[in-house]
Amino acid sequence: MAEFVDRGTGTIAGVPDDAAARHDVAVQRLVESYRAIPDDAPVRLAKKTSNLFRARVRTDAPGLDVSLLGGVIAVDPATRTADVQGMCTYEHLVEATLPHGLAPLVVPQLKTITLGGAVTGLGIESTSFRNGLPHESVLEMDVLTGAGEIVTAAPEGEHADLFHGFPNSYGTLGYATRLRIALEPVEPFVEVRHVRFHDLDALVASLGDVVETGIHDGRPVDYVDGVVFSATEAYLTLGTKTSEAGPTSDYTGQQVYYRSIQHDSGEPRVDRLSTHDYLWRWDTDWFWCSRAFGAQNPLLRRLWPRRYRRSSFYWKLIALDHRFDVADRIEARKGRPPRERVVQDVEVPLERTAQFLHWFLREIPIEPVWLCPVRSHDRWPLYPLRPGETYVNVGFWSSIPRDPGGDPGAANKLVEATVTELDGHKSLYSDSYYGEDQFWRLYGGETYTGLKRRYDPDSRLLDLYSKAVKRK
Ligand SMILES: Cc1cc2nc3c(=O)[nH]c(=O)nc-3n(C[C@H](O)[C@H](O)[C@H](O)COP(=O)(O)OP(=O)(O)OC[C@H]3O[C@@H](n4cnc5c(N)ncnc54)[C@H](O)[C@@H]3O)c2cc1C
Repeated sequence: MAEFVDRGTGTIAGVPDDAAARHDVAVQRLVESYRAIPDDAPVRLAKKTSNLFRARVRTDAPGLDVSLLGGVIAVDPATRTADVQGMCTYEHLVEATLPHGLAPLVVPQLKTITLGGAVTGLGIESTSFRNGLPHESVLEMDVLTGAGEIVTAAPEGEHADLFHGFPNSYGTLGYATRLRIALEPVEPFVEVRHVRFHDLDALVASLGDVVETGIHDGRPVDYVDGVVFSATEAYLTLGTKTSEAGPTSDYTGQQVYYRSIQHDSGEPRVDRLSTHDYLWRWDTDWFWCSRAFGAQNPLLRRLWPRRYRRSSFYWKLIALDHRFDVADRIEARKGRPPRERVVQDVEVPLERTAQFLHWFLREIPIEPVWLCPVRSHDRWPLYPLRPGETYVNVGFWSSIPRDPGGDPGAANKLVEATVTELDGHKSLYSDSYYGEDQFWRLYGGETYTGLKRRYDPDSRLLDLYSKAVKRK
């Protein structure tokens, strides 16, 4: 591993250019900043981007200095691995691996999601039916624990417990500073086929077949996700890696990717994207969420600078809305009640997915809905999907009129109850309302208590319940 490809931080005065030395300085700064935080102050990352949706209590305490931890240390094409710093965004990571014809096994859709964030806070994409979640391609990682030590955690060995308990711990056991991950070969292009379904049960049955066989209509399938627009209009998008030259579509300009999926034909709609554009197909319009800001209005889109057509910019608009309560003020002016934000990703066992979707479309007026199958290869106690079993991630990110009974979290609670009833799981990046006992039953409480005792004995870091449910 010799090639230093740090694109995250650039050259910085007083910091060595040599990859290993530079990484050492980065870790040293992190540890010093950790020690400088007073014992009674909360520990937070001082980081510019975040894809965490739940509101958090503001703090004036100094944050952890991760400013030099945003790069790729090395890519090794021979072993198909990369050493990556914990706060490296997938945008930078992919930029470093694609020139070698390689990509991380799972690339979450939003460019500013970091490798450490995706491993500790989970991520998913259209390769997850083959490759599981992002943490399943981590070979080893260095973690600054709550005890202030740097330890190397791997599937076997002294810190194997931390390795397995890290996914879904959201920085409450420690912070990953370096991760060695596996990479997989990619081709220059992805051919996609958007297959239309008029019936959700048929879609789920077909999805099960694809996951099982990796083939659809005689063609190998490397990537799978889906979109439900309504109970009678839903699509599976099946992607195949290809090196065959030919025209490609561009959805970073005037065309909007999710609209390109829709058609009314019995035959699949076939399209081609460069692999780079395929990986980021959802970022330009943040799936479909950019429509809330007018970015899909053809007139406005023409004027909207290209560099601001990306999820990290929409995040800034959301932050402004949160700060000044813009959406609720507009609703109030129109004489309408405030809205409840329902931004969630849930995993439901394949065989219960159609049931969940029918329930969801009936009860929660949000569309479209994103689907992504996933199969875990191992047991991860804090997010206990059963290994080898197919689940379907269902993602919905919008708001609905608030419950007339006055409960500001009514719809989210209904989602939690239904997912639990169907033996599914819910990601914790957004609002959660579980009672404490139930929460620990669902998210590996017993294992977590042991890990917390070992790696954060003085409770310098928040605990998962306080972070995920109490929004601390
Ligand atoms: C609307 C929306 C849609 C989403 N859709 C998807 C999706 O489609 N696919 C997908 O994969 N994910 C999705 N996510 C979830 C996202 O992957 C997770 O929220 C992830 O944790 C964000 O990573 P980040 O790097 O932005 O971390 P941050 O938002 O900065 O942090 C998330 C948490 O991780 C902790 N953390 C960050 N870095 C580290 C580290 N190096 N070590 C330990 N802990 C750390 C932080 O303390 C924090 O608790 C979505 C989120 C939202 C809000």
